[in-house]
Amino acid sequence: MKAEVTTMRQAEYIWLDGETPAQQVRSKARIVTIDDDVSFHPHGFPQWDYDGSSTYQASGHDSDLILQPVRVVRDPLRCHGARLVLCEVLRPEGAPHETNTRARLRSQLANGAAAHEPWVGFEQDYTLFEGERPLGFPTDSAAPKSQGPFYCGVGADRIFGRDFVEAHTQACIDAGLMIYGINAEVMPGQWEFQIGYRGIDSEAPDVLKVSDHLVLARWLLRRVGERFGVEPRLDPRPVTGDWNGAGNQTNFSTANMRDKATGLNAIRDAVKRLATRHDEHIAGYGYGLAEGTNSAHEPWSITEFKSGVADRGASIRIPRAVELAGGGYLEDRRPGANCDPYTVCTLLIETICGTSVARPSLN
Ligand code: ADP
Ligand code: MN
Repeated sequence: MKAEVTTMRQAEYIWLDGETPAQQVRSKARIVTIDDDVSFHPHGFPQWDYDGSSTYQASGHDSDLILQPVRVVRDPLRCHGARLVLCEVLRPEGAPHETNTRARLRSQLANGAAAHEPWVGFEQDYTLFEGERPLGFPTDSAAPKSQGPFYCGVGADRIFGRDFVEAHTQACIDAGLMIYGINAEVMPGQWEFQIGYRGIDSEAPDVLKVSDHLVLARWLLRRVGERFGVEPRLDPRPVTGDWNGAGNQTNFSTANMRDKATGLNAIRDAVKRLATRHDEHIAGYGYGLAEGTNSAHEPWSITEFKSGVADRGASIRIPRAVELAGGGYLEDRRPGANCDPYTVCTLLIETICGTSVARPSLN
């Protein structure tokens, strides 16, 4: 008979609320008894409920909403077998809540999109704030040095928040998230991490998994920020003036785009399809995008679709290396830092693979 190993552990249930204009992460902890061998299985964890009237998701008269565990990773902050448990939000009768965009992506995959084997990789920008001031901005009214030395910079005169970034990166690795790299961005206090495909064959960067990992990495940003007294913001236009906006460039491919025999044609075809739905994509790529693109440093246009090889002023960039290799992926440079990754993937799949989804309700 197999000896059963049962462990009492803390499980941090994490979900997206109903805040507008951008949904925020929420979480609460529960002590659960879960056997080791199922301790990464979402279905091994119980459903839980919460007060949806306190998260902009329900009225006070009928406030109970359900947390359905869908992805489990190690909790890198608590250790001791603790877990982070990402959840979908369901109505009491079991249907996805209207703020549950993950359910829409899930049903799109089940209804034919999975056959295209869509992969994704995000480049998440964010800005560290201390109160109302980005880290590295002077406390008096003087303007900081103009941007130039900060991107990938080194040194106390140009780098702000490095210890926080190191702690967040290690937390993502310890949790088992598909984090690929980090770099300091062009504005002081602004940073990027990439999450998604990192060239390791044993870990398929499917759209649902990578989007889940991005949400968990965003939760870790805010949670690790508590320890350092900094607030990471996903605002696409964190300060006014001649400063870079913050985006979430999204790298996307299908099996056909990755196949050297069909790759470049499939990528060109995808670009043609994307050109016909520019406005729909902009509308679903995060609030405040238009403001984020007024800067001379964000050369792509909100109103005009443009694509190009190695062109960082285009809405869609085909990396030079992809063209030389005869296939790979394309980069959509339009999503804002606060975009919802599930909606970005849903739109890309809908446009490129032609697998549509029901709108606007998810039920
Ligand atoms: P760049 O600065 O050229 O955009 P990065 O190294 O910052 O390059 O980002 C490359 C991104 O492309 C990563 O997010 C990675 O996960 C993603 N990526 C690489 N190959 C693929 C692929 N076949 N499908 C989808 N995404 C990919
Ligand atoms: Mn990129």
